[in-house]
Amino acid sequence: PITNLLLNHKGSSQKTANEKFEKHALNYESKILDVFGHVFQLTEFRENQWEAINAALQHHDCFILMPTGGGKSLCYQLPAVIDNGVTFVVAPLRSLIFDQKQRLKSLGISCASLTGNISHEEADEIYRELYKDSPAFKIVFITPEKISMSDQLNTALRDLYNRQLLARFVIDECHCVSEWGHDFRRDYSQLGQLRINYPDINITLLTATATLRVQQDILQQLHITRNYKLYTQSFNRSNLIYECIQKENNDLTLSQISNLIKINYQNQSGIIYCFSRAECDRAAQYLLASNIHALSYHAGLNDSLRQTIHMKWINDECQVICATVAFGMGIDKNNVRFIIHFSMPQSIEGYYQESGRAGRDGEIANCHLFYCYDDFLKMKRLILNDDESKSPMQTKQVRINNINRVYDYCLNNVICRRTQLLEYFGEIFSSSECKSVMSTECDNCRQVYKTSSIDCTRISIEILKLVSDLNQTNTTLSYIIDILRGVNSKTIRDAGHHRLRAFNSCHQLTRLDLERLVTRLIIDGYLKQEFLDQQTSSIVAYLRPGVNALQLASSSSQRSTNTSKIQIELIIRIEQINTNADEERSNSKEKSIEQINEQCFIELKKELKVI
Ligand code: ADP
Ligand code: MG
Ligand code: ZN
Repeated sequence: PITNLLLNHKGSSQKTANEKFEKHALNYESKILDVFGHVFQLTEFRENQWEAINAALQHHDCFILMPTGGGKSLCYQLPAVIDNGVTFVVAPLRSLIFDQKQRLKSLGISCASLTGNISHEEADEIYRELYKDSPAFKIVFITPEKISMSDQLNTALRDLYNRQLLARFVIDECHCVSEWGHDFRRDYSQLGQLRINYPDINITLLTATATLRVQQDILQQLHITRNYKLYTQSFNRSNLIYECIQKENNDLTLSQISNLIKINYQNQSGIIYCFSRAECDRAAQYLLASNIHALSYHAGLNDSLRQTIHMKWINDECQVICATVAFGMGIDKNNVRFIIHFSMPQSIEGYYQESGRAGRDGEIANCHLFYCYDDFLKMKRLILNDDESKSPMQTKQVRINNINRVYDYCLNNVICRRTQLLEYFGEIFSSSECKSVMSTECDNCRQVYKTSSIDCTRISIEILKLVSDLNQTNTTLSYIIDILRGVNSKTIRDAGHHRLRAFNSCHQLTRLDLERLVTRLIIDGYLKQEFLDQQTSSIVAYLRPGVNALQLASSSSQRSTNTSKIQIELIIRIEQINTNADEERSNSKEKSIEQINEQCFIELKKELKVI
């Protein structure tokens, strides 16, 4: 098989006119194949692995963007085995380093890690090895703060460098370098030193998520300017089924989730992402009470307990983990069949990663996202109240934008989920490919609707007017929508606000459509949300004119010719078309969330009767 591979891949490797170099490269090719088969015991390269490994061995900086589970690690581990000297890998989490180390050790590759938690003795032993003439380690993992804080490490690196035994730096999860990314880490911003201190040592960057802007920022922060190689590929995860579900309230959602697991995922592994530690505990308790083996996992538990829970889940002794986002990065369990977001993710990138932990084995897996306006407000207020010193204003603004985008994604009941997600990474995805051979179309593609593009400019201006005319305490989202929809409530009548409703264009917009419109107006800065009373437990936000409000208002007036006309459009559903797929689904064993909802209500009613 190895010779086969050589033939297969020869065509795709770069040809060079320089004969000497070519010989050199060929030499690499057979070495790569040898290590690939005999050390890593693999048989076929995945997309871009071969190219990236070759590029690394030919002394290029590499920026490797691959979906989660795509096989990024091999792109530095294989060169590290071949290279003379030691490769240093910066990784953000100890758990991630632990997993990688176990795997390398099982393959017989000598490695070590210098993280904050190891004892002096262990560290000394590792350093002693590094000072040897020919250190045994091929790979040493370090956490980013080590680079900026440990003189001992820097002295050892300098020494290896002088002896030409510093093979390469690898920065795993490199999106953490950028403040524009979804998981910025301050310690990562120190990594720019690497290029400055060791100018001719190649750097390999790995991540599963980086928009174009984030990519550019990472390269700039790390001073990687010369001809690096960039490897990207489609980020579509064709075996994942995406779905968003509006949340009624937390209790009902928990009962939906427990039914969903019992009916569709018997004995199958999954993760439930929760907003807070308390929410993790509560979800786990609820599921346990319904006979689902669930455990709670969050930063409030001590290291060893977390480790135990993690291992139980990995070994299928525990079915469901209820976790905060602290759980996840670097998790390598390939039979995860469902990811449920009990609370919304904090960014689209974050969502892509979190949901991406499902179905690494290539088989169908589901991603259910529960959302509601209250959660949206809750998350937003938390960001606003965050300690300034920990999170400077720019980052806050980025985080606010991120959460706005997530809410917009959830509400969007028209555009293919994949199209929306991938657009975020600069990829154009046609919804016609959503279905794939596996029938994994998303919720929006599953049901076929006639859609229509509605010009919402006028109504947007009316909303703006309404918001600025009304007493501030009346401008909650639901109140505004009630007025727009002509809800005949006593509060509205008493306040005389029923007369404000003069919008003919509204009648075809559903409540959800209107909420989508308002969210768009918030994202585009025509409206903003203000949290007044930050003390109360229930969170209320008032809509106010945003920074771009005037622009919109003035663009409508006929007289102003110098401002470009703003047009706000919304594509909405107008009519459902029944398809065979619906029937097929209703006959199948798997239940849709609507069917499960129905069951939930029946059960809830039963419970109420008992009371
Ligand atoms: P990520 O891109 O998320 O870092 P990993 O490098 O952890 O992914 O790889 C995910 C899984 O895929 C691992 O179990 C790894 O052993 C496996 N893998 C990587 N490359 C190949 C390959 N060429 N053939 C088969 N399995 C592979
Ligand atoms: Mg990885
Ligand atoms: Zn779709």
